[in-house]
Amino acid sequence: MSPDKIYFNRPHMTGKELYYIAEAKFGNMLAGDGQFTKRCHQWLEAQTGCARALLTHSCTAALEMTALMLDIQPGDEIIMPSYTFVSTANAFVLRGGVPVFVDIRADTLNLDERLVEAAITPRTKAIVPVHYAGVACEMDELMAIARKHGLHVVEDAAQGVMSTYKGRALGSIGDLGAYSFHETKNVISGEGGALLVNTPEQVLRAEVIREKGTDRSRFFRGEVDKYTWQEVGSSFLPGELIAAFLCAQLEEAQSITDNRLAVWDGYHAALAGLERQGLLRRPVVPQHCQHNAHMYYVLLAPGIDRQVVLDRLKQQEVYAVFHYVPLHSSPAGQRYGRTHGSMEVTDYSSERLLRLPLWWGMPKATQQRVLQALGDALARF
Ligand SMILES: *Cc1c(COP(=O)(O)O)cnc(C)c1O
Repeated sequence: MSPDKIYFNRPHMTGKELYYIAEAKFGNMLAGDGQFTKRCHQWLEAQTGCARALLTHSCTAALEMTALMLDIQPGDEIIMPSYTFVSTANAFVLRGGVPVFVDIRADTLNLDERLVEAAITPRTKAIVPVHYAGVACEMDELMAIARKHGLHVVEDAAQGVMSTYKGRALGSIGDLGAYSFHETKNVISGEGGALLVNTPEQVLRAEVIREKGTDRSRFFRGEVDKYTWQEVGSSFLPGELIAAFLCAQLEEAQSITDNRLAVWDGYHAALAGLERQGLLRRPVVPQHCQHNAHMYYVLLAPGIDRQVVLDRLKQQEVYAVFHYVPLHSSPAGQRYGRTHGSMEVTDYSSERLLRLPLWWGMPKATQQRVLQALGDALARF
């Protein structure tokens, strides 16, 4: 008998999701911005300290909102890592913006803040740090550079829900932040996201852009007596059923994170030996960053063929995966963006990185099987 498949990801339900969905349905409020959306907003605002949280239908949508809010015009440059998900770049390219890819740090695989200043030109509008694996970028340095050059900072905190940098929630440090609640993230609603607005002056504008470019949010609050088209916007809000599901997840965000951290710590302790043997490198989490155990990855040593490792793991029914194809080497990345400087760390790390199965409630014995399979796969090099 072959062993059970160990999936890379398993979406987790906390228990109240369907109950809240039923409550939303019987409350007869299925469009967006009902009671459950309000509860999610309040939770996010209390948790992160942002001026205003607004649910969106994805992190991609939240990033697209940021490009509208920053008035990105054709030719404007946006500094970001190449080692990221396509939406980081796409959101700005949709407005005619040009992604300028800068290399990442070898330790955290986050945008290398030491390389950012040299990439700034008169056309630069914003810096977009991506908190990879829920581990914070060096935000103090990035914010200082942005202030010095009059640039905006948009945090792609898609993976960073419940993570902090020097005690501050990721997504709440730059001008704007974007969260994802996609089912592959920690706190989920299938598809889903949120925009965090950190400057009070920007809140009304964000509400207008999210409501098809109208002041409908103010109308519902009784602040204006009719609502009209104010500026360019779109429909970025999710319906109440999604918000109801998400509400149940947010209420359990701490227990979800604690559970995942225990699994993460289990990998980290067990893999110290293989790191000492020089077969892999474990993730690095700086002292001042509290992460959320979004991901456990290893960087395989040079000379180890990643595809062979993945195949050997699969033979043991262990489904590990690699991650991003760097945007600067993708067809659209080459057409719409450009690199500044060497992409050496990005190229090296993206080819060596392997992500291990990690999900809420992973039993110790299951994790042991992953570790055993990985050890066996690497022993034969
Ligand atoms: C998941 C992810 C996104 C996109 O999130 P969606 O909610 O699926 O749109 C964007 N950026 C990063 C870094 C991500 O990990």
